[in-house]
Amino acid sequence: MAGCCGGHSHFDGMSEKYKRILWYVIAINGVMFFVEMIAGIGAQSQALQADALDFLGDTLTYGISLWAIGKSLQLRSNVALFKGYSLLLMALWVFGSTLYRFFFLNMPDATTMGAIALLAFAANVISVLLLMRYKDGDANVRSVWLCSRNDAIGNLVVLVAASGVWYTDSAVPDLLVAFVLASLFLSSAIQIIKQAKLEKSQQQTVSSTDNH
Ligand SMILES: [Zn+2]
Repeated sequence: MAGCCGGHSHFDGMSEKYKRILWYVIAINGVMFFVEMIAGIGAQSQALQADALDFLGDTLTYGISLWAIGKSLQLRSNVALFKGYSLLLMALWVFGSTLYRFFFLNMPDATTMGAIALLAFAANVISVLLLMRYKDGDANVRSVWLCSRNDAIGNLVVLVAASGVWYTDSAVPDLLVAFVLASLFLSSAIQIIKQAKLEKSQQQTVSSTDNH
């Protein structure tokens, strides 16, 4: 969700209160990765496992963002590039493992899926509320808020998958939702990589004009 910042605010996360809140959000994401991954493997749900990977990605991303606050622009665009490539790997992994499941069908446990999706939804809503006051910050600050908000929507999609599995008594809704999540990872990965490469090339132009 890039390109939605009006440039009306220049808050770049340099505040102790914001950093503390970011720590809470990182902890929530880290715990939810383990909970949802273990439940996802136990319930044989591709959608839960994909959603769990999102929590892992966010834990790492927010952790790196916290570390990058106040660092140089160059470093921050390298961090963004790393973020983009990790997301790309995650997308490929979910696509691959879900495709495999189409040929070796499993039967996900709809009850576990539903319960964990609700828990994940609660976790993301809490993160959104914690970050609410900072949603108009710079691109980095804003992306953390947007990501938690999008993830809460994603959790509801997993909940729909759980109902679909329960209703159709088949794994297909689970696999379809896993594909949807993988496509979202892929499109964010491409966006982030493009943006980071653009920023890097702009910095190179700036530094080369500085040298002359
Ligand atoms: Zn996320």
